[in-house]
Amino acid sequence: MIKHHPTFELLKSFVDGDLPASLSAGIAIHADMCPTCQHQIAQLTEQVAEANFEFEAAFLDRFIVDDGDDVADMPAISFEQMIDNITSTDEIIEPTVNAEKHITFNEQSYVLPSALNNMQLGKTAHVGKLSRARLQLDEDEIHTSLLHIEPGGGVPEHTHKGFELTLLLDGSFDDENGHYEKGDFIMLSGDHQHHPISADGCLCYTVANDALHFTQGINKLLNPIGSFIY
Ligand SMILES: [Zn+2]
Repeated sequence: MIKHHPTFELLKSFVDGDLPASLSAGIAIHADMCPTCQHQIAQLTEQVAEANFEFEAAFLDRFIVDDGDDVADMPAISFEQMIDNITSTDEIIEPTVNAEKHITFNEQSYVLPSALNNMQLGKTAHVGKLSRARLQLDEDEIHTSLLHIEPGGGVPEHTHKGFELTLLLDGSFDDENGHYEKGDFIMLSGDHQHHPISADGCLCYTVANDALHFTQGINKLLNPIGSFIY
């Protein structure tokens, strides 16, 4: 069962269209798996639509001066013409083909979330039990990847200066804060340290805006891996 959801502020920014594509896709993927957030997004979308409508109505009210001569001011256009104008277009709208896309890590094939279908995937790189395929979103310091952890693998204890989103697409992992399953949306800021371990393996969608910094003893030697994961 999903226990970790995006915050209200993130959902609101998602609906307002204020998020970078990477985080927006993360919320869309989570919502596809989470009826609770789906419902909240629908409600927020309705509120935004209403607010926009009220704003536009108020805006127009300020400019439309009722001179009692409204009909004469209307352009001479018949209802049929209006419908023709609306419906005439040379554009052919291709039906969206929802072909499933797959990605294979360690001989295991996964169906990609449909929100990622149109994104370019880079080559897969491996370090130990970790594999990473970068999503080419061109968002400067924000890096987005699919991260696969083989059974028994993990990420050494680390922290980051920026944020780190981990969205579990398949499998499960544990860290000092708990157990995470498919669909869990884990957003950490720089003041968190953690050490995820996946007993049975997992596939995650990750977004981070800074390299990971390994914090403990010998793990500091692993800091190049921090850049690898980021
Ligand atoms: Zn949710």
